[in-house]
Amino acid sequence: MLSGRMKNITPYVPGEQPQDRKYIKLNTNENPYPPTPRIDEFLKQFDVEKLRLYPDPRFDSIRQTLARRYGIRKEQVFLGNGSDEVLAFVFFAFFDSADGVLMFPEYTYSFYPVYCDFFNIEYKKIPLSDQFEIHIDPYFKEKKSCGIIFANPNAPTGICLSIEKIQQLLDACPDNRVVVIDEAYIDFGGESVVGLIDEYKNLLITRTYSKSLSLAGLRLGFAMGDDDLISALFAAKDSFNSYPVSTLAQKIGEIAIEDVNYSTAILEKIIQNRAYLSRSLTDAGWVVLPSKANFIFTRKPGVSGLDIYLKLKNNGILVRHFNISGIEDFVRITIGKRSEVDALLEAVNTLF
Ligand SMILES: *Cc1c(COP(=O)(O)O)cnc(C)c1O
Repeated sequence: MLSGRMKNITPYVPGEQPQDRKYIKLNTNENPYPPTPRIDEFLKQFDVEKLRLYPDPRFDSIRQTLARRYGIRKEQVFLGNGSDEVLAFVFFAFFDSADGVLMFPEYTYSFYPVYCDFFNIEYKKIPLSDQFEIHIDPYFKEKKSCGIIFANPNAPTGICLSIEKIQQLLDACPDNRVVVIDEAYIDFGGESVVGLIDEYKNLLITRTYSKSLSLAGLRLGFAMGDDDLISALFAAKDSFNSYPVSTLAQKIGEIAIEDVNYSTAILEKIIQNRAYLSRSLTDAGWVVLPSKANFIFTRKPGVSGLDIYLKLKNNGILVRHFNISGIEDFVRITIGKRSEVDALLEAVNTLF
């Protein structure tokens, strides 16, 4: 009954979305603040008749808005139903084992190996430094490689690689090898490499508004890169689903992108809460990696990560634990509102 392809896939396991009881939910990096109130106003006057028609398959209006926002051209922008879908098109369009292995860090977004299995792409995991930083030297050494991908800031470490290092990587990379920087968390204080896309035709950036604009439920992700890369992504999309981004997602996305004052304000609050949580945990003897994302990766010497996860869950607080050798003693904690951070700190101080 199943295709042969199905035998080779191991699905990604998303963080829990429990429906049974109310948790303080710090496990899936959602934004604790609501999206811009301009969306309420828009929905109140939205003409439902418009849903009769298919959405714009070229996403022209929102691409124009994104191009203005990031100082690039519309032809350098692609969109998808969340950046997970954009990434799927990226893996399909650019990575081919016939050219060599795809390289990514040993600890990074755990969806990458899942796409590799889905599209039958061989990959090689490159170790992080003992400080959990991305080390660029090993990427130069691989002779037969079809590309590089990593999240920056990286997940689940939260550590951001500098523009200079990424530029060194690009300089050493052959022009026909695509380098994908997944900037899902860049709005929380990292430095974007969007300014490099005119110079490096093989640089592709993916982004999501799930986290920074509080729109995880809307499903809106995008990519920025050279026109030829973007055209290839459109060709991949149009071979799979011409309309992955709904009329409402395109419109609401534009409204949220344009309300820069609002997004700046909530991002600032998250950055402040992150500093407060990191400082408080460090003072209590926890090891906290330096994060530029909306989460921290942390451990308490002498306590297992599983134990931290289970005890917090029992106390109504959900965090993310990865049962992966080398990081099994860490937990990833999403930055919540100040009240949620305080509740977490109180639980942590009584339990551990
Ligand atoms: C959350 C996340 C994504 C997926 O974002 P969506 O737009 O919600 O699909 C992609 N990459 C990384 C590194 C993420 O953390």
